[in-house]
Amino acid sequence: MELKQLYREIVNEHNLHPVHKKTIENPDIVLRGVNPSCGDDITLSLKLDGDVITDGGYEGSGCAISQASVDMMVDQIIGKKKDEAIKLAGTFMGMIKGEITDEESIEALDEAAALQDVAHMPARVKCAVLGWKTMQQMLEGEGE
Ligand code: ZN
Repeated sequence: MELKQLYREIVNEHNLHPVHKKTIENPDIVLRGVNPSCGDDITLSLKLDGDVITDGGYEGSGCAISQASVDMMVDQIIGKKKDEAIKLAGTFMGMIKGEITDEESIEALDEAAALQDVAHMPARVKCAVLGWKTMQQMLEGEGE
């Protein structure tokens, strides 16, 4: 399948059938992330057990890229340790900015790697990184 087509299908799928667009019970950390240039507005909730992210969800609204990206992000980080999730966020943002291009790093992003094309759409970069940036801020601020 051509990459552009794959990218569109993944974005569509996450918009039509988001897996993690829901409230979770007793979240340990909650943070709102806003991208005023597009109107994307999400509130991310995470549940932690020690160093491990055990559940996550988000609410809000925004463009297809922002919503698909946050849905994929939550899917990726559940079951991961905080430092692994922070590292993934760094990889994702590096990929979107076009700074990380080696396949091995990008493969670690699984489905979210489909958003690599956003690197060629400067206006959408903030949309794509919103969820990841919010998650990184939450985890880095936690327990300090
Ligand atoms: Zn947007």
